[in-house]
Amino acid sequence: MKVFRHISQIREVRLQNDNCSWGLVPTMGFLHEGHLSLVRRAKSENDRTGVSIFVNPTQFGANEDLSSYPRDLEKDLALLEKEGVDLVWTPEPDDVYPPGYRTYVTVDELTDGLEGASRPGHFRGVCTVVTKIYNVFQPHRAYFGQKDAQQAAVISKMTKDLDFNIEVIVCPTVREPDGLAMSSRNSYLSPDQRKVASTIYKSLSAAKELYDNGERNAETLKNIVKEIISGESSLRLDYISTAVYDSLEEREHLNGKTLMSIASYLGKVRLIDNIIIG
Ligand code: AMP
Repeated sequence: MKVFRHISQIREVRLQNDNCSWGLVPTMGFLHEGHLSLVRRAKSENDRTGVSIFVNPTQFGANEDLSSYPRDLEKDLALLEKEGVDLVWTPEPDDVYPPGYRTYVTVDELTDGLEGASRPGHFRGVCTVVTKIYNVFQPHRAYFGQKDAQQAAVISKMTKDLDFNIEVIVCPTVREPDGLAMSSRNSYLSPDQRKVASTIYKSLSAAKELYDNGERNAETLKNIVKEIISGESSLRLDYISTAVYDSLEEREHLNGKTLMSIASYLGKVRLIDNIIIG
């Protein structure tokens, strides 16, 4: 496994393996089984697999957790080595955004709601960094998690709209045994908070069960989620949404593939999750 900081070093290895298919997994590190599931999928579908590890400053708001975001590069590299990854890019912020950097990528409409509304500028940062990581690795396929459903939708749209010759593959959310979606941010939770956190997926599952039993009114599904979340005094709902899967347009009457997504605070920790219904 080759690990490099500089773009030119990654490009060189990429060019030396130009006759191979490349899969790419962009990450912010502090890797867990969710990330590794993307790596395994990429490995199974490509000759070579590249991973980027970069806590991207432009996708964090001023009051967010950029400086405290968990990092453990040594452990991450050991995990990736074990998975048989070929190439890892570990840039520093200045390598990606050198002094005088002025260019950003934005996607309209899809980024207006949900995480885009709660975290202004977030997707501008995500789209910009993913574009740059695409350009460095020039992959044939790029792998993203359903855990960040809006991000997956936005990146799919950006990839298509900007004519990147890259197939975007969205992989299922990997969960802890109690249903909590794996996330690097789970490491912020105290043992008590960690127990409470599983309520988030329980509430989404309860809504899906109602849907499976015939309920199609979005308000009714949202109410069951709110009721279950409010049963835990330490959990505070940021938003709950029922939207058309691809376009993310909000729907009051549900038919067809629907993304039910939630963001909530447990203390200062912001956790997101979603479930596909219909
Ligand atoms: P992050 O390091 O949080 O930026 O995540 C890197 C990639 O891993 C993104 O495409 C995420 O959607 C994906 N990912 C994060 N957590 C999970 C999970 N629990 N299951 C599947 N994919 C995940």
